[in-house]
Amino acid sequence: MNQFELARADSVADALAKIAGNEHARFIAGGTNLLDLMKEDVTRPRMLIDITHLPLSKIEDAGNGGLRIGAMVSNADLAYDDKVSQAYPLLSTAVLAGASPQLRNMASTGGNLLQRTRCYYFYDTGTACNKREPGSGCPARTGVNRIHAILGASESCVAVHPSDMCVALAALDAVVHVNGPRGERQIAFEQFHQLPGDTPDIDTSLAPDEIITAVELPAQGYAQHHSYIKVRDRQSYAFALVSVAAGLEMDGDTVRSAAVALGGVAHKPWRNREAEALLVGKKASDEQFQAFADAVLQDAQALEHNAFKINLARRTIVRALQRAVAMESAE
Ligand code: SF4
Repeated sequence: MNQFELARADSVADALAKIAGNEHARFIAGGTNLLDLMKEDVTRPRMLIDITHLPLSKIEDAGNGGLRIGAMVSNADLAYDDKVSQAYPLLSTAVLAGASPQLRNMASTGGNLLQRTRCYYFYDTGTACNKREPGSGCPARTGVNRIHAILGASESCVAVHPSDMCVALAALDAVVHVNGPRGERQIAFEQFHQLPGDTPDIDTSLAPDEIITAVELPAQGYAQHHSYIKVRDRQSYAFALVSVAAGLEMDGDTVRSAAVALGGVAHKPWRNREAEALLVGKKASDEQFQAFADAVLQDAQALEHNAFKINLARRTIVRALQRAVAMESAE
């Protein structure tokens, strides 16, 4: 690991002042991904700005029926918060499916959004990688690509986003609050993470001199009909091969609205609103769910080693929707 300077920010304004014009500085909160990246020499910040003392650790009513989650709320505090687990159980379930208890105690909400892909080549500085060194190539396209993308990939990069929390936040239509030298702004969750295109080194729409201050959840939490299914190689402490966050509003056995996000399949949590519209007004049935899954996956493209993900995603989508519907009869 390279030497770096450590500074502590005492306010959001102080944090923004410290990072302004300092392209080699990075904010650090729980450090559960950044320290790995530094130890593997993937990233070499010359300054770390400790933001763990910022007043961003509350979960508060947003005033519109929703919740505002401070960026420094730990994954553990988020998952076990009474308001979150009661009104947004989909989010609690997804968070608890990720990492390990120790990591969830350290990892922050804002940091979870900014964690980087676990593509093997990205962490191996002995290989090329367009995300790490733009223009150097993507060995994953023709190499070991079992865990890689089946949707939204590009010639430049076939990596997937690793978060569980973000899949639930995508389904819940969360909004990311950020602050920066140009003032505060809000980013719809779907616009926050980027597809790789020809700039796979850029993961999000957050500017380098901006900071995440909160994630806001709308009032609709799909508490009555939801499910999160994560399929992975090990039962714990493994990233998703495929995950599905499903929320349904039901009117009897008819779907009034549907929100379904996929993880482990693309460079960002994947939603297909046109496909979701196919479910609206229809009786919940395996046939409808299979038609929905086919629509979501119609443009899926397999690499040499990950063709299994397409059928796995199809079955996981159907199972997640079945479970979301079945909650009513279980109550
Ligand atoms: Fe790098 Fe992306 Fe290719 Fe992985 S998939 S080697 S992160 S460019």
